[in-house]
Amino acid sequence: MMHVYNTLGRRREALHPRVPGKIGLYVCGITVYDHLHIGHARSMLAYDVLYRHLLTSGFDVTYVRNITDVDDKIIERARAGGETPEALAQRFIDAMTEDARALGALPPTHEPRAMGHVDDVIRMIGTLIDSGHAYAIDGGDVLYAVRSFPDYGKLSGRRLDELRAGARIVTDESKRDPLDFALWKAAREGEPSWPSPWGAGRPGWHIECSAMSTALLGAEFDIHGGGLDLEFPHHENEIAQSEAANGAGFARYWMHNGLVRVDGEKMSKSLGNFLTVRDALAEWRGEELRFFVVASHYRSPVDCSTEALAAARRALRGLYTALRGQPVDPDAPLDEGCVARFVAAMDDDLNTPGAIAVLHELAGALNRARDDARAATLAATLRTLGGRLGLLQDDPEAVLQGALDPGAAAALSAEAIEALIEKRRAARAAKDFARGDAIRDELAAAGISLEDAGGRTTWRRD
Ligand code: ZN
Repeated sequence: MMHVYNTLGRRREALHPRVPGKIGLYVCGITVYDHLHIGHARSMLAYDVLYRHLLTSGFDVTYVRNITDVDDKIIERARAGGETPEALAQRFIDAMTEDARALGALPPTHEPRAMGHVDDVIRMIGTLIDSGHAYAIDGGDVLYAVRSFPDYGKLSGRRLDELRAGARIVTDESKRDPLDFALWKAAREGEPSWPSPWGAGRPGWHIECSAMSTALLGAEFDIHGGGLDLEFPHHENEIAQSEAANGAGFARYWMHNGLVRVDGEKMSKSLGNFLTVRDALAEWRGEELRFFVVASHYRSPVDCSTEALAAARRALRGLYTALRGQPVDPDAPLDEGCVARFVAAMDDDLNTPGAIAVLHELAGALNRARDDARAATLAATLRTLGGRLGLLQDDPEAVLQGALDPGAAAALSAEAIEALIEKRRAARAAKDFARGDAIRDELAAAGISLEDAGGRTTWRRD
């Protein structure tokens, strides 16, 4: 039985799906006005790990991750670059899909775009106005009346009075309450807009998620995920909109991933301290970035630094080193004790550090294994459990020899290395040890280390 930490109620709870065997999962996706940074990658991978674990646990999962493709920032960027907002959004959607693939993230069941659900948004806003939860103001905006929803604040644990006291003094007299937020934004000159009963305009950001989750998962579903920075106000607003419009509950379990920090500060576009996935992929393999993310518990903050990424690379190489030379044997039995410990860790609110500890334990046992049958079991278990985290599916030889590294083509080729190793072998056979050592040094200078064992020489890139 899986347990998750539910932000709603702030406690660890057993996961009981609404419909036995099925899980509806909604995750707030990306606003596509730029490339993904490591903070986005972390959120994407946190829920990818959840998705994979639910699938291997036997659930029939409907996983929805939306794309916000109409937004102020998209419109501004498109205008500055002289392209249409649609073209700019499509360019970054394509780039996101490429990055997601490089990170080994499985495609969600549905990846709805806000522009494709404007009718659903308009319908939901109409229902909210009819039931007194929203009002149109002069100028064509429609606002949500926060005061009409007594449960407002139940997710973030905030009280309306405190929030109001903290809200900036609003000069906008048309708002009934300073906390009221836009559901519909009246069209401005030169912006994409859709006709509506309140005039031409476009959806506010919060209502998109309510409309898309209702359309694809129904009013009530199991798990809603997103970054911790979305808990308030975005998720609080989603609850207010969906529960009021649908006259039903909303997500039962709310999961929030911790943020990525740089020097103790949140990595964000606005702070300018971000590392894009693209730039990171020029230096690190996607699997290394993935390992860096998965090595921490999804709720903890993580610090992104070169040292942390290098540590992920070393750990991953250690695991691949254990698998080196172990044939892939699909019929090998798995080590049930290790599988059970891995599953127990994952069932415990996705304790990925605990799950990775099992991988290291398997690698250690594999390095010590003397018996082929035992080694086959350990290797098969390591590959299978690694695969459940989206790891260890590459050829160990290729990984350790750097064939999959970014820029591998520019480095000393495998053929060139093999040729030097052959020259060294010939020199040593001719007792020219100085020449043999010189070749070893030359390779070491190029970052290649050799290991002589059992009469043959293997190599790896450091
Ligand atoms: Zn959302």
